[in-house]
Amino acid sequence: MTNGPRDFDDEGSAATRKMRFLYALRSRGVTDTRVLTAMEQTDRGLFVRGVFSDRAYEDMPLPIACGQTISQPSIVGLMTQALNVQPRDKVLEVGTGSGYQAAILSHLARRVYTVDRHRRLVREASEVFARLDLTNITAITSDGSFGLPDQAPFDRIIVTAAAEDPPGPLLAQLKVGGIMVLPVGQSDTVQSLIKVTRLETGYHYDELRPVRFVPLVEGLGTE
Ligand code: SAH
Repeated sequence: MTNGPRDFDDEGSAATRKMRFLYALRSRGVTDTRVLTAMEQTDRGLFVRGVFSDRAYEDMPLPIACGQTISQPSIVGLMTQALNVQPRDKVLEVGTGSGYQAAILSHLARRVYTVDRHRRLVREASEVFARLDLTNITAITSDGSFGLPDQAPFDRIIVTAAAEDPPGPLLAQLKVGGIMVLPVGQSDTVQSLIKVTRLETGYHYDELRPVRFVPLVEGLGTE
């Protein structure tokens, strides 16, 4: 069978959609080529299920299961860029959610550990990782405010839920020279995205921009 006009249109619109998606990222400050390539390789449509899936390529947060959200792509890009992941790095993500952020990190790092307090989210994200053959990601159900002591220390830590302050165990599980990126602040007000660098002598803090994330909640979820 030959390609009818409809097939041709579909292909055209998929390419246009991708170009728009990348353009939106660049125009919002995501300029790191490695990050843009990793995001180009990661189809956000696979991580958004149900009625919102047709909005997966728009630069907006969207609802996922368990009352959580998949972050806005430009924020994912800016956080990944600030994390400055290196190919040999072992990375911890707290807040698996849909798995989208972890999938992007898997293209940039040697190994990604991602934890979520909702076992359903961990299960569904793991299914997508398997389907995409992203074998360097390990997803675990646990309370990420305690980090992942068995696998510590980490070169990079990214937290995608907001705590009032950087959790002590996460600071302790960061290698010297390591970087952690996380939102801090009260959940119902504007939070700040911060970058913490561990130095020989302590920690250096940079404030990056205002953001809004779901809260970091203690204990495991019911689903
Ligand atoms: N990074 C995700 C978006 C995460 S939304 C993505 O790319 O789609 C924030 C997630 O943090 C939610 O799934 C929520 O369940 C999780 N979360 C909140 N508190 C947590 C905690 N203490 N430990 C682990 N995960 C937590």
